[in-house]
Amino acid sequence: MSKIAIVGAGPAGCSAGYHLAKSGHDVTLIDKQGFPRDKICGDGISIESIQSISTMGIYPHDIRKLASEYAPIHHFFLGVSNRISHSEPTTLEAYCIPRLVFDQLLYERAIDAGCCFLTQSVHKNDWQRQGLLDAFDTIIDARGVSAGEVTAIAIRAYWMVKRQDLSETALAEAQIHFDRSLGVNGYGWIFPVSTQHDLVKLNVGVGVWLDEYQTLNVNVIQLFKQFIQKNKAAQQLLSKVVSQQPPKVFPLATAKKGNKVADGKVLRIGDAANLTDPLTGEGIANAVLSGFYVAQAVNMSRTPAVTAENWQYLYESHFEADLRAGLNIKAFRKFSFMNYLLIWLMKQSPRVAQQVSHAVAGVVPYNEVMASLKY
Ligand SMILES: Cc1cc2nc3c(=O)[nH]c(=O)nc-3n(C[C@H](O)[C@H](O)[C@H](O)COP(=O)(O)OP(=O)(O)OC[C@H]3O[C@@H](n4cnc5c(N)ncnc54)[C@H](O)[C@@H]3O)c2cc1C
Repeated sequence: MSKIAIVGAGPAGCSAGYHLAKSGHDVTLIDKQGFPRDKICGDGISIESIQSISTMGIYPHDIRKLASEYAPIHHFFLGVSNRISHSEPTTLEAYCIPRLVFDQLLYERAIDAGCCFLTQSVHKNDWQRQGLLDAFDTIIDARGVSAGEVTAIAIRAYWMVKRQDLSETALAEAQIHFDRSLGVNGYGWIFPVSTQHDLVKLNVGVGVWLDEYQTLNVNVIQLFKQFIQKNKAAQQLLSKVVSQQPPKVFPLATAKKGNKVADGKVLRIGDAANLTDPLTGEGIANAVLSGFYVAQAVNMSRTPAVTAENWQYLYESHFEADLRAGLNIKAFRKFSFMNYLLIWLMKQSPRVAQQVSHAVAGVVPYNEVMASLKY
């Protein structure tokens, strides 16, 4: 049994804490915030994220029973600058859930599994000073984007709309809009996140990659305003909004090549290890899965040096190919017409439509999309 400190109790830290405590380790989960705590996010819990939390014993029926707010998602909508769009139905379960509610579910699983929780802010430079390196056999850095490398920036707002003003499809549809004003890779989203009551909560936001952001010459708040003013779906909704919360900005740590996820006793997971999808900004699935695999690295290794080596190996074998394929697609997608082409192809071929939607939802790895279309 090892003594393990996990710094950061988001999806990555709670997943690692759950699996390590279940396998008998003495786990201290440390976060600078007490729970329940919010996290600025699109609140999209993709099909892959739903699959990943099943490793923590959380299934869709638990979400419907335990979550105070949620929206089941049955359609994935992709649109380009008001011109062309495709909505693909899905039979596999995806959800949107406010992170305040979702992260609490994961936190409770980690505590029930035996993690001890401390509210404390810990910075990398403090690890030696605060004696963490001496007191613990392993430190898992799960501090999210503050410990990773920032590659993108996003902003989200909550809008409240009367249920009767939304169609049944809108209540269960995750919409992604590639609007030209957001660059080739940037996008706006409209997600329903709480649909059980008369007032429906929607999460509306935009995300833009730093390499494009620097050339756009507008700040992210202006980009959000432009999206709302120019996008037809957002405009239509705005006319129905009963109340809205001001938008909030937060950075993202998307994938990068040649990533090193272990440094001596310290193993990085989730956003701290830049595991977010470089095309969609979806990071919850990989955060939870990295917690699962880092626990395997700890359990299958006898010394800290071997644990570090094994975590790097498991990272490379389970995440790297898909993230690299995403980065290659991003590098290839240089012009706006490519977004039109993608959606045009989806409209022509049901097989392409399903594969692309499933790739966006994380069910089909990017490196397998082209190969699977041959069958
Ligand atoms: C606007 C926006 C929209 C997004 N939309 C989606 C989406 O729809 N779907 C999706 O899957 N992903 C989305 N993401 C990405 C997703 O939020 C992250 O990938 C995910 O939260 C990563 O989980 P994590 O556990 O690694 O980090 P986090 O969830 O960020 O958790 C890190 C934890 O560490 C704690 N912490 C930080 N610093 C310290 C410190 N010094 N000491 C102690 N504790 C500390 C924090 O309080 C926090 O609880 C979005 C991101 C942004 C910014």
